[in-house]
Amino acid sequence: MLWVFGIAAVAALCFVFYILGKNSSPERAAEREIQQNRQKILDMICRDFQKVGWSAWDRSVHMADGQYERMERAAQSKTMRLVSFDKKTGTAIVAGESGKQYTVDNSGCSCGDFLHRGLPCKHMYFAAMSADE
Ligand SMILES: [Zn+2]
Repeated sequence: MLWVFGIAAVAALCFVFYILGKNSSPERAAEREIQQNRQKILDMICRDFQKVGWSAWDRSVHMADGQYERMERAAQSKTMRLVSFDKKTGTAIVAGESGKQYTVDNSGCSCGDFLHRGLPCKHMYFAAMSADE
């Protein structure tokens, strides 16, 4: 009967070492770094949204599925342009990648992505990132 416990003990030990190994693996470290980077970007976005006075969108909104990709697209776009930003009303005009202009403010954006999802689009992220204090 004792051998059953012996095998169980060995199995438990193997499991513990497996978990320990997994946590210290390079993949795990890389994943942690990605998460930390995303937290930093999230902090920056939250500050940018505060800066332009868009209080309708809190941190949890920016953490929703698909938001990070939009921030990335806004940050990496070479063709989007901030046409104007009115500090008093917090209203920006953004020229999108096709050159089409969108009106962006605390309530959202006039583009199809925002109308469809109701969550901040790349134009909003771009305007928040680009507008002066
Ligand atoms: Zn938009």
